[in-house]
Amino acid sequence: MSVSPGLVLRLVSASCVAARNAGQIIRDVMSKGQLGIVGKGDPRLKDLQTEADRSAQKLIVRRLFQQFPEVKVIGEEEQDDLGGIEADSGTKFEMDQGVLSYQLPDTLNLVKEEQVVVWVDPLDGTAEYAQGFVEHVTVLIGIAVDGAAVAGVVHQPFYKDADDKEGRTVWGIVGLGAFGISGISAPAEETIITTTRSHGTGIVSEAVNACQPTSVLRVGGAGNKVLQLIDGKAHAYVFASPGCKKWDTCAPEAVLASMGGTLTDIHGNSLRYHKEVKHPNTGGVLATVKDHDLFLRRIPQTVRDSLPA
Ligand code: AMP
Ligand code: MG
Ligand code: MG
Repeated sequence: MSVSPGLVLRLVSASCVAARNAGQIIRDVMSKGQLGIVGKGDPRLKDLQTEADRSAQKLIVRRLFQQFPEVKVIGEEEQDDLGGIEADSGTKFEMDQGVLSYQLPDTLNLVKEEQVVVWVDPLDGTAEYAQGFVEHVTVLIGIAVDGAAVAGVVHQPFYKDADDKEGRTVWGIVGLGAFGISGISAPAEETIITTTRSHGTGIVSEAVNACQPTSVLRVGGAGNKVLQLIDGKAHAYVFASPGCKKWDTCAPEAVLASMGGTLTDIHGNSLRYHKEVKHPNTGGVLATVKDHDLFLRRIPQTVRDSLPA
């Protein structure tokens, strides 16, 4: 008798397909050049939304709703009306068969729909996308079980490999591992810090400088910065600001944790992802592949005091 794969594995498999399809939308909107940019909330915060953010979220949320109608999905953009959409978990949806060939760790095997929240950032790095820095963009789908980030998909639509193939998908499940990664480590003799390019403040700089960097990379996107850690291009992602939200960190945290890394707030507290949680990561973000405590100790008390957890 064949046993159907566990819920978390099916969610990751479906999310890989949805993220790639969203990536295609993001490339198409850019190549047509009609970005349809609107500002969200306070214009001073430079929080933008484009046609690509809207369409990519619609695709991902609809797809997950059709296949997993009982699973709570929280997306960055306004939720569109799912009323007319038929949930049909029995239909054959396209799945990533590579993901399905793995087995979940025992701890995740029996997870039920009501334990899960999926956090979706359909386009992370919108500010950079709107300015044409397309390689900073990622699609993030994070899966939390009982409030903990346990699985994630980080898709980079504009990544080009040596054969010029467009797009790459990195995914991970805590206890199983991370896939689609290079396995390169950052140089031991340096301290490379990655941080925001478009949402900097004095406090953000103070925290970065206190980490004693030999160089600082300023790039867009939480997903992109965690990929820099994973790719061995940086040692720590430091963001002492309440600007990042749960959809920015859930998938990157899960992928990083799958390969032994750590993402916390700047106090070292782990982030929670249950459905009632407040969206902003008010304690900021600190992410590392290793030596997390070393970087935590370097965050000054003045910075910590300005970002109550
Ligand atoms: P960044 O590193 O600037 O690309 O930020 C990472 C993520 O957090 C992106 O999704 C940003 O939109 C979001 N973010 C960071 N700071 C802010 C802010 N001050 N206002 C709104 N969104 C922010
Ligand atoms: Mg984002
Ligand atoms: Mg976004």
